Amino acid sequence: MSDSTVRIGLVLPDVMGTYGDGGNALILRQRLRLRGYDAEIVEITLSDPVPNSLDVYTLGGAEDYAQRLATRHLQRYPGLQEAADRGAPVLAICAAIQVLGHWYETSNGEKVDGVAMLDCTTSPQEKRSIGEVLTIPTIDGLTAPLTGFENHRGGTSVGSSAQGLARVTHGVGNGVGDGREGVVQGSVIGTYMHGPALARNPELADLLLKRALGVDELPPLDLPDVDQLRKERLAAGRR
Ligand code: GLN
Repeated sequence: MSDSTVRIGLVLPDVMGTYGDGGNALILRQRLRLRGYDAEIVEITLSDPVPNSLDVYTLGGAEDYAQRLATRHLQRYPGLQEAADRGAPVLAICAAIQVLGHWYETSNGEKVDGVAMLDCTTSPQEKRSIGEVLTIPTIDGLTAPLTGFENHRGGTSVGSSAQGLARVTHGVGNGVGDGREGVVQGSVIGTYMHGPALARNPELADLLLKRALGVDELPPLDLPDVDQLRKERLAAGRR
């Protein structure tokens, strides 16, 4: 590893990683390597303190108990909060949105304090939201529709210091009736999209990478398989 190696933090894959969310780190590494950057994934498990020095971070989804273990660990080792404060991009999938919020209520009604990096709160909804979700992004830097697979019972309300990631066109999203999907605040992007989200949404992957590298543009990648995957997933989401 050299000084110029881009380091991607895969945060708590031992407890947070439903539906192959760890794949998001692989996508970031591959899109960097294809452009000639040295890149490596740093796995941070429950046995490790959370480093604040990495270039970009990803966290996956989880069910209630695993989510609680992750919350406790991130409160004890505030490296992720410190990294986000200096502007390092963070991608938080599903349960990770809930963990990074002010609090979340588990499916049996227990209220758990979160990490408070995102101005949002989560409570269980009557019905679990499962299926393909399609959205139109509402943040600067994204133009293409986003596609993913959602499976959550929590419904997330976004406070005034944060904003949604996108407007839902098919599926449920945050699930509190405001038509929003995801929570964005500072350098943190949270979404309910599994998939893994970055395999399906290369523009989102490149937005995180541009921010990690501090560049305005990245050379486009010609990846017909990715285009094909997107075509299929966008069509599946509309059915
Ligand atoms: N336990 C959370 C919920 O059901 C998150 C689930 C997930 O990450 N897939 O809302």
